[in-house]
Amino acid sequence: MSDLAAPDIELVSVQVLREVLSHQRRMRGGGCTGDVCPQCVRHHLDTVRSAMESGRRIEFVLPAFPTKSPNPAKVLGPLPDLAEELALRFLNQLCERITELYPPGAAILICSDGRVFNDLLGVSDENVTGYARALDAMITRIGAGHLEQFTLDDVYSNAGHEDMRTMLAAGYAPTIEELREEVRGGGAPLAMYRGITRFMLEDLSGPHYTGTRSALQRKCRELAYRVIQRSRAWGDLLDRLFPTAVRLSIHPQPCGTEKIGILLADTPDAWLTPWHSVAVESGGRFTLMKRAEAEQAGARQAFTEGRPSHYVLEPADPTTITGEHHDR
Ligand SMILES: [Zn+2]
Repeated sequence: MSDLAAPDIELVSVQVLREVLSHQRRMRGGGCTGDVCPQCVRHHLDTVRSAMESGRRIEFVLPAFPTKSPNPAKVLGPLPDLAEELALRFLNQLCERITELYPPGAAILICSDGRVFNDLLGVSDENVTGYARALDAMITRIGAGHLEQFTLDDVYSNAGHEDMRTMLAAGYAPTIEELREEVRGGGAPLAMYRGITRFMLEDLSGPHYTGTRSALQRKCRELAYRVIQRSRAWGDLLDRLFPTAVRLSIHPQPCGTEKIGILLADTPDAWLTPWHSVAVESGGRFTLMKRAEAEQAGARQAFTEGRPSHYVLEPADPTTITGEHHDR
């Protein structure tokens, strides 16, 4: 049993949700109001309160950190770098602040979904494995004790990678026709479909692509449905495996729905994630940018232990002429 009395549980669970929702990634026109949305607090209150009533730590499930984009114009390479590290530190600090409010603490289960759809993105299973192992090592190295990783490999531990995806889709995925119907209805499903189609276009239009733009667009619209199908299957499986957890999402969510959209870093683009970008330090502050855009802005690569980890951009100085003497 919890040491907290009933009125305290009510108060502290609201404080915990206010802490989480102060980093909410909101859907434009999604219905949220105020600095911290009271409807969203109310919607998730029971889940947090029941964890507190039994004295358990508060658990969050976040499908995220799949694998690096295969497009070298967006990222430094296939392994996690400072962009991921900043996001992991941010999530761990969020849990530390929750633990100050509620001593049994909080944990975020990062449900890496790379294995769920890497074949559709043109990313090898070896790269997914390498990314997940390096992310685990990073969690340990930075001492992010509130974070744990969970992958499809943990669900079907003895199966081959292709069989894992087949079993997941067979057990949990909606049909493509059901998804088309949802997207035709507009709103959040349409926004998600458009966002994923845009990512597929960016990821697959790298230097290896030789066909026409319109053929690629057709292919990406098809693939986007399959990515959503697998993601939905993964989400449903996670709901069954972790029924008492609060569901987080990297995507903006409408007000008062099952998932809380959450920010991962200080970035103005609601769709920019560490695995589609590079970290750029400028004047002591970090932001995320696509690699090509960082280089065009004059940022130079920085290294950690001999490997490129991020970019550094000198803050704009009106007294110097820029653009002529940068070392590339
Ligand atoms: Zn809301």
